[in-house]
Amino acid sequence: MKTLQNPTSPCPVIIGGGPAGISAAITLAEYGINSIILDENPTLGGAIFRQPTKNTLLGHSPVLDKKTTDRADYLLKKLHSHEDRIAVYTRTQVLGQLGDNNAITVLHDGKVTEIFYSALLVCTGCYERSQPFPGWTLPGVMSVGGMQLQVKSNLVRPGHRIALTGTGPLLLVAAKQLHEAGMEVIGVYEAGQKSDLYGEIPALLSDTPLMFDGLKYLIFLKQKKIPLHYGWGIVEARGVDEVSEVVVAPYDEEWNPILGKRKAIKVDSLAVNYGFTSRTEITQQLGCTHSYHPNRGGLKPDVDKWQRSDRQSVYTAGDASGVYGSYVAEIEGKIAAHGYLIDSGHTNESQANLSCAPLRNDLKRLIKFQHGFNKLSSPKEGLLTLPDKETVICRCENVTLGKIDHAIAQGIGDITKLKMATRAGMGDCQGKNCGDFCHNYLVKKSGRSHVEIGNLKPRFPLAPVTFSAFAGTGE
Ligand SMILES: Cc1cc2nc3c(=O)[nH]c(=O)nc-3n(C[C@H](O)[C@H](O)[C@H](O)COP(=O)(O)OP(=O)(O)OC[C@H]3O[C@@H](n4cnc5c(N)ncnc54)[C@H](O)[C@@H]3O)c2cc1C
Repeated sequence: MKTLQNPTSPCPVIIGGGPAGISAAITLAEYGINSIILDENPTLGGAIFRQPTKNTLLGHSPVLDKKTTDRADYLLKKLHSHEDRIAVYTRTQVLGQLGDNNAITVLHDGKVTEIFYSALLVCTGCYERSQPFPGWTLPGVMSVGGMQLQVKSNLVRPGHRIALTGTGPLLLVAAKQLHEAGMEVIGVYEAGQKSDLYGEIPALLSDTPLMFDGLKYLIFLKQKKIPLHYGWGIVEARGVDEVSEVVVAPYDEEWNPILGKRKAIKVDSLAVNYGFTSRTEITQQLGCTHSYHPNRGGLKPDVDKWQRSDRQSVYTAGDASGVYGSYVAEIEGKIAAHGYLIDSGHTNESQANLSCAPLRNDLKRLIKFQHGFNKLSSPKEGLLTLPDKETVICRCENVTLGKIDHAIAQGIGDITKLKMATRAGMGDCQGKNCGDFCHNYLVKKSGRSHVEIGNLKPRFPLAPVTFSAFAGTGE
């Protein structure tokens, strides 16, 4: 592993080596600007282009389709062609900012250290929303992205017989990848109604290549006889030491399960994804203003047309600034880089406008396309009815829905007070798993607004760190 070094004079530091971060670094390099990319993963590529952590004969993940592999190869080759200007540090976790000295603190090679920056480009992507339901903590139940990670990066088949439940196109992508990894995919249960999808055809036609990509996945499922059920979703996972059966049911318009029509299916694995949440811990910690976008990843930082936050020298792009997918992430990374180029005097706004005009046309088209999925895939209130009193909501602190209900009955009306009363969100993950559910549950139960309920404040360090790493011994 390359040893992390501060350059002689601070340069832009890009947090996240996915499509947004990589394209930002390439744009800066094309203007002769050095930058640093930091990513917690062993390889670059972010969520979509996740590379294997072992050597493969193909050199890339065998379950990535050709179009995705070609896109990854193109971006990574371009990045490597600028390696004199772009310093890449993988396995490097950004823990947040401690002081007000334009330095971020990172965990690298077992040691905590500081990196000084001239600007920060926060391209940290998103998380999958966790969806509690009875049995969701059983071994064998995983997020769809977690399952993908097994087959894309670890080259491990996570089970034999799997059902996928949730919403959105990632279900189709993952079903294909898991089938190709040798699993029997016994069904895909999409919570959205088919009629919602038909209603959005005009929006989806705004990007015909992407629409055809979607159709290719549908055809694949048909050919492999993998059933796709619209308007169905998870009710419960059952098993003793691990999942052995899942219960699914049709959902009504608000995604309340119609229990009279539920059915049980034998499986040894279940993949679940009911949407995404932008990773905003760093922009929150830096004090950037955020607002709520319940249909598009929840809380996100406010940005201007150059992806500038309202904190000086802090830009954000890609899913971290609103979940719109990898093509939008790539474009926003370039636009954020132009924002920095304007602010640092390397170009002027009219020149940047000229360079970015075609990008903005593509952006408009892609965002219209993504909005087409909103009606189908925005998580609905019925999901909040899935857990029962005994269901653990906060896995770090073992807080059940019963305890949360008890606190609400006693008058708790915002998320910080809920955390203090129940310890939900107080554990190692700082509420990454339970925060979204608790927030929406409080909104529903109290009738208060998203702003009044608030959000769990991220604390330094953003990830658990050993004391020895702080001591700098690495032991
Ligand atoms: C689990 C998951 C699986 C997905 N799979 C697909 C797919 O198969 N096909 C598809 O089209 N889309 C997929 N998506 C959506 C797609 O990946 C994204 O839209 C796209 O990758 C966004 O690009 P990005 O650069 O904004 O973020 P990402 O690609 O997510 O990259 C962000 C990077 O920042 C790193 N990072 C975040 N915080 C820190 C920190 N504190 N310190 C260091 N590094 C940090 C992350 O580990 C990640 O590598 C997936 C999304 C998720 C969450």
